[in-house]
Amino acid sequence: MRNFYDFTLTELEKAIGALGNERYRARQLYKWIYNKGVLDFAEMSNISKGLRMLFKDMFSTGLPEIKEVLTSRDGSMKFGFQTTDGNTIESVFIPEKERNTLCLSTQIGCKMGCRFCVTGKMGFIRNLSVAEIIGQIMAVKHYLTDKRITNIVFMGMGEPVDNLENLLHSLDIVKNPLGLNFSHRKITVSSVGLIDGLNQIQPKDACIAISLNAAEDKKRTYLMPINRLYPIREVMNFVKTFKGNRRTRITFEYVMLKGINDSLEDARLLSELLSGVRCKINLIPYNESPYLEYKTPGVDTIERFHTYLLNKHYTTIVRSSRGQDIGGGCGQLGIRYIEERQNGCITGI
Ligand code: SF4
Repeated sequence: MRNFYDFTLTELEKAIGALGNERYRARQLYKWIYNKGVLDFAEMSNISKGLRMLFKDMFSTGLPEIKEVLTSRDGSMKFGFQTTDGNTIESVFIPEKERNTLCLSTQIGCKMGCRFCVTGKMGFIRNLSVAEIIGQIMAVKHYLTDKRITNIVFMGMGEPVDNLENLLHSLDIVKNPLGLNFSHRKITVSSVGLIDGLNQIQPKDACIAISLNAAEDKKRTYLMPINRLYPIREVMNFVKTFKGNRRTRITFEYVMLKGINDSLEDARLLSELLSGVRCKINLIPYNESPYLEYKTPGVDTIERFHTYLLNKHYTTIVRSSRGQDIGGGCGQLGIRYIEERQNGCITGI
């Protein structure tokens, strides 16, 4: 039996058509499951009983098992899903005044090794399947029946572009009007800048956020070893060619680390680097972790940096860190793996 959430609409049409059935049946299934939230084939009243039985034998529509839900003082919620191979997938629901964002994981662990990130420290275990990515949205939707997810960010555990094929298939399902039906403007893919993969994503697919964190190569390579492969110059070339309509703009994420990248000189270099680029800058005060040595800059330092960029007319926001007390903040996912490894419960990562 195949997992329904693995199929893009085109793939589902093919699979159903291959059995001699009309392809529009795939669109009916999509509408029931994604639009109406009906997961039981028996309730799909416009499909004949015989076909419902066939689909029931073909596809599983079960949701991922929720192992844990932690709620932060600020209202964010971290979901831990149990995978069939004994791993945990983490997603974070972030309610705000005007939107509710769901931050999805695309891998268990991560290969990128960014020095300031707990997930980077835990190493890489495996990619998530399309069903495991889409399953996070479906499970949270069905759990939080009184809240609507308005935005999707691929920013959780893992580097989404390093799991490119499954990312692209997931974007297809998330955007499809018969699927989860999110506008591309409500979807963000965050990447360290894997340019070859990013070039496969079109502005009509999703917004792009680049995790930058330093404006010169030496410092960025220290913080993010991937910069050796895709240096800042290449990242900026990509940014300049990622053109949709006049509303398209790239977001740059800049995790602020005390004494590392938080000086006015750093702000000046950032301002110079982004000169002429239509963009938004998110300053993210570092979430301290007992497993990493970095510290959060003081409020004054952050404010000075912020003001410098505002005075240079950049749209710049200091992103208040959400869900820190539940290990759901930026760069905190996967902390359980490190704790379990330290306690000798798991090996091999
Ligand atoms: Fe991976 Fe993102 Fe962490 Fe870097 S910051 S190690 S890309 S999860």
